[in-house]
Amino acid sequence: MARYTDAVCKLCRREGEKLFLKGERCFGPKCAVERRPYPPGMHGQKQRFRRKMSDYGMQLREKQKARRIYGVLERQFRRYFYDAVRQPGQTGENLLRLLERRLDNVVYRMGFADSRAQARQLVTHGHFTLNGRRHNIPSYLVKPGDVISVREGSRKRTYFKEIGEHMEGKAVPEWLEVDPTTLTGRVIALPERHQIDIPVNEQLIVEYYSR
Ligand code: SF4
Repeated sequence: MARYTDAVCKLCRREGEKLFLKGERCFGPKCAVERRPYPPGMHGQKQRFRRKMSDYGMQLREKQKARRIYGVLERQFRRYFYDAVRQPGQTGENLLRLLERRLDNVVYRMGFADSRAQARQLVTHGHFTLNGRRHNIPSYLVKPGDVISVREGSRKRTYFKEIGEHMEGKAVPEWLEVDPTTLTGRVIALPERHQIDIPVNEQLIVEYYSR
């Protein structure tokens, strides 16, 4: 599956806020949003003083923000949206729930990685098992009861030997549980909207696709 490969800090600068796409760097003084708080490109500095955004502009920006946070390209994101429409309940919430259930996001939320991009790489490189079987598809949608574990062969790697200590202090959402000593996590339930802490107004995304 294709993925975005250009500089990710540009994406945060485009949205005018931190999307936390790079792990630790995002919390330090090297963050590009702090150093250059204007959109990227030749005319970026002028755009700082732009007039009020149109309704369409706001809807588009909100959709792009969600897409970029979860590292999903347009076609796949649209597919998630139409899957969300078909499900009972509110489309916006369904959409965020689908995105949140992606295996790469779950690995990130469990604390095995500092960013979703890193989690995606760890998954595609086959470092995890799902319910005891090796699994390397980052877009897999987890369900309650799924057990995600670091593969036996990968535990010897320095990264995974040290990750247990880092995981101790990390906050894990209520819909997941993790045991840092055994490097294993479990999906307890599907996430509710209030458990998904991303700065996105999902209603604007629904409006964007309903034009
Ligand atoms: Fe965004 Fe992180 Fe880059 Fe800052 S360091 S611009 S938050 S990806």
